Amino acid sequence: MGQFKMKLKLKCETYDINHPDGSDKVYKSIVLHNKLTVLLISDPSAASNSAAMSVKFGSFDDPSDMQGLAHLIEHMVFSGSTIDGGENDFKDFVGMHGGDVFANTEPEYMGFSFTIVKDHFKAALEIDEPLMDIERFKKEMKTLNSEFESNKYKDTSRMEQLFSHTSPENHPFNRFTWGNNQSFSGHEPQALRDCALKLFRSHFVGASMKLVIIGSEAVDELEDLVIVYFSNLKRWRKTNFVFPEYNDRLWKHGVSYTLESLEDAQKSEGSLCFFFKSKHWITSFTAPVGHRYDPCWIGGNLGGGYSFA
Ligand SMILES: [Zn+2]
Repeated sequence: MGQFKMKLKLKCETYDINHPDGSDKVYKSIVLHNKLTVLLISDPSAASNSAAMSVKFGSFDDPSDMQGLAHLIEHMVFSGSTIDGGENDFKDFVGMHGGDVFANTEPEYMGFSFTIVKDHFKAALEIDEPLMDIERFKKEMKTLNSEFESNKYKDTSRMEQLFSHTSPENHPFNRFTWGNNQSFSGHEPQALRDCALKLFRSHFVGASMKLVIIGSEAVDELEDLVIVYFSNLKRWRKTNFVFPEYNDRLWKHGVSYTLESLEDAQKSEGSLCFFFKSKHWITSFTAPVGHRYDPCWIGGNLGGGYSFA
């Protein structure tokens, strides 16, 4: 695909960056005084507005005696934040206005995004700092535990646990990133909450975050919104996790582990998967999640989702 240049504004200086040719979208990238890097995309055909933020903070930053705390902080950002001066939970507010939220925690970063109808986008950008209210915090601890309980028998979760369990004790992989009642049991909820707030305030700062905004407004209008709602972020950046030098083997040579799938047991008699397998037509079955109007999603279900024997 052809490329053409666009200007990146960094304070008073401009830099060239590339973006795809043949699109009627207009792009602009700015860096605020607090070092928050922002990509603004004006898309005249956008039916709603969206924002996505990545934060350089993840499970590797968990205190070793509070494993899963980063994941809990991720939950608190959307489930423990309010809007309208405390009138509504952020997640409920977005849901009430035809939108959706998504968040994920990875070892070295977190991602947050939401989509909402244009008329309520500005209000959604007014999201407050998570309250870290102790009762909400305890509620999210329960949510996290149930999340783990309902996912722990999935083959991917079990592989992750095996991966962590068998890596050397002093290696960053040797940790439990999900978080559950057991991993939090060494501390009172109040102590966990205080630590979560401290971590949030020191890592959710301009220099550690990158933001993308998409809307049908002109880029200059989107830029004004960002300046209004994100200029008050602190700039200071705390030192994040740094992957240490590690020269030893991750696993012992010649040792193999067998992890029998439990998922076949869940795809029991009466299911579509069971039926296809009984005919020896497939060996596995996946159901990709995507936008329901996206032709790739339909193709994925009709073809790509099956592995034929
Ligand atoms: Zn979660």
